[in-house]
Amino acid sequence: MVNSLAVVALLLAAWFSLKKQVLTRSAGVAMVIMGSVITFSLGIGALILMFLFFSTSSMLTGRSNRESSQTRSLIQVLANGGIPMLAAMGNWIVPHSVWFIIYIACIGAANSDTWASEWGKRSSKLPYHWQLGRRVTVGLSGAISLSGTIASLLGALFIVCCGVLILPIFPKPTFIWIILLTLTAWLGQWVDTWLGGFCQGRFRCSECGCLTDHDTHCHQPAVLVHGYGWMTNSMVNSLASFSSGIAGGGIYLWFLSMNWVPPF
Ligand SMILES: [Zn+2]
Repeated sequence: MVNSLAVVALLLAAWFSLKKQVLTRSAGVAMVIMGSVITFSLGIGALILMFLFFSTSSMLTGRSNRESSQTRSLIQVLANGGIPMLAAMGNWIVPHSVWFIIYIACIGAANSDTWASEWGKRSSKLPYHWQLGRRVTVGLSGAISLSGTIASLLGALFIVCCGVLILPIFPKPTFIWIILLTLTAWLGQWVDTWLGGFCQGRFRCSECGCLTDHDTHCHQPAVLVHGYGWMTNSMVNSLASFSSGIAGGGIYLWFLSMNWVPPF
């Protein structure tokens, strides 16, 4: 009953997102399918966690980028929700509490990344790019700023705290667990920065000369100057989410196998 209501809510949310042009049509369909799979395999709490990620991210995006209406595409939705959906399907095939841990770590990583980039955009200082060894235009992958790094840690902590509160994980995670899980979610942000800096396709605009993640700039095709063209931002996001899930799930299973219960 609760699950069916969740599906109705998903359909309404997708319809509303289409109307407001927050999502493209295919992204809306993907959202409904993904949300249903997650609700039926991990429960309504997991869907609420996903909703918390999308709503806080949209709020931040809306604030920093009001003039250019950003429509999320299918690829972007899959990049953030694909691995969590696989974790949900895993629980459906082999029910185990580790899938909840993986799920929280993945959503935490996605939230960490979004909070970092949205907060970073509002920083007055230009972000520093490790691989280029200098400050670069805001929004270029692989660059970090102090405010973005703090925001990414808070983004991970926020999702982990909400996750352990609303998801049915037993025994209830202790303080040490929350710290460890936050760090694994935050790890995704570092994987994101590293892959973004060293492997992601970086383009130079032939019009204004600036470096960008996108293959078009100033309404013109930009030239690939570094990395691989196929290593897009969405690909990097998926890999970051994957590494957080593996790290979180791996530590959890390791502790279980050793029968170790954190003292507090
Ligand atoms: Zn340009």
